[in-house]
Amino acid sequence: MRLSLRLLGIGGIGIVRMSGKNCFDVLQKIFKPKNVQNIDDIKGYTIKYGNIVDGENIIDEVLVSYFKAPKSYTTENMCEINSHGGNIVLKKILELCLKNGAELAEPGEFTKRAFLNGRIDLLQAESVIDIINAKSDKELKTGVKQLEGFLSNEIAKIKQEILDVMVNIEVAIDYPEYDVDDVTNKQIYDMLDSVEKKLKILESSFDNGKIIKEGIKTAIVGKPNAGKSSLLNAILKEDRAIVTEIEGTTRDTIEEFVTINGIPLKLVDTAGIRKAKDEVEKIGISKSREIAKEADLIIAIFDSSKDLTDEDMEILNLIKGKKVIILLNKIDLNSKIDENDFRLLDVSRDIIKVSALNNLGIDKLYEKITDMFNLDQINLDNEILITNLRQKSLITKAIEHIQETKNTMSNNMPLDIVAISIKEILEDLGSITGDEVSEDIIDEIFSKFCLGK
Ligand code: GDP
Repeated sequence: MRLSLRLLGIGGIGIVRMSGKNCFDVLQKIFKPKNVQNIDDIKGYTIKYGNIVDGENIIDEVLVSYFKAPKSYTTENMCEINSHGGNIVLKKILELCLKNGAELAEPGEFTKRAFLNGRIDLLQAESVIDIINAKSDKELKTGVKQLEGFLSNEIAKIKQEILDVMVNIEVAIDYPEYDVDDVTNKQIYDMLDSVEKKLKILESSFDNGKIIKEGIKTAIVGKPNAGKSSLLNAILKEDRAIVTEIEGTTRDTIEEFVTINGIPLKLVDTAGIRKAKDEVEKIGISKSREIAKEADLIIAIFDSSKDLTDEDMEILNLIKGKKVIILLNKIDLNSKIDENDFRLLDVSRDIIKVSALNNLGIDKLYEKITDMFNLDQINLDNEILITNLRQKSLITKAIEHIQETKNTMSNNMPLDIVAISIKEILEDLGSITGDEVSEDIIDEIFSKFCLGK
């Protein structure tokens, strides 16, 4: 199955959303419900049927959903005009709203308002982008869990653990006549150890989180005619594969994101492989070198019906020391090389016999990848995964501050210095959830959103 996730311009319905104290005033000027009712009498969470009008002109027949503050996405008064999905209709409704006092929203502004108004924290806001951009079931599930607040709760618990001890420290600082130093020191050490342990678990979850979010960057390399495009076709033909085409960073490259058995693979520069097939020039060593450099996983494919050539040896050389799965392709033909070949074993112990053309052994490849990246052990039900680099960096920073605090203490620094150090840990954690974060960072995060979200 091939599923394109590109957004189309026209749909069955289109939605114009408005949020803000005065949005019903704007609505009243352009919406004529069938059973006229005062907007004040309309309850939240209801839908009304009627026409959008520009003076005497009917623009479209619509359904309008009402959300009254504070029970809405943004916690403000909100309405959503569900019109027909044509571009002209939507543009006209949008213009009418603007003409009657509304202002155009920035990308992500609705979610930003939900955050600024305190309905969700920054982690939950970030999960909204992840849910929208999810390319696999697992990525979606991780996003939804984060939106539900699993990570936020974990961070809150860690913060509380620190705050509980912080109270004792403040007492010791404010009332030095009470000799509580010893108790407090042990308490602080225990708390720092416990918090450090929890943060390290979160930090290390990023390895899996990154795989789930970005996929395993996989390069298929091999000399011309080894069977690269046949392998690619075998993977893409899989019924279970969902393919998303992602625009590559360099022009003309398309990266394909495939999930097979829930294993997300981002196939690097496969467009090049396929393009090369139609041209005289095929992908050679220099291209392989380039794409192998940045991959998390290299699938190196060799034609087992022929002995290894100099070109094969060159490829083996350049991928040495990387995470490599070797495929001996064309096993339907007479074999000239096998999995005991020391020249192959020198580069990787993971050697699989396949026939890309006949779809033989491809399942073993998936099993191998699952093993290599411990994908079976990613348990989304019990585990909290960090998928976002911003969050991970702040966790790392908090761990560094914990270690600094421990140093401060072992140098017998006064308690008020220790307290300052602990406050830095709290600040790091506050930045994760957005309690303590600068406007620039907030703007940057929300600029990644699409319009209307
Ligand atoms: P690429 O240049 O590495 O992309 O190689 P291709 O996928 O274009 O394959 C080169 C040739 O080998 C084509 O004629 C394929 O049909 C053939 N081929 C690929 N895989 C197999 C296989 O498993 N068995 C056989 N017999 N031929 C294969």
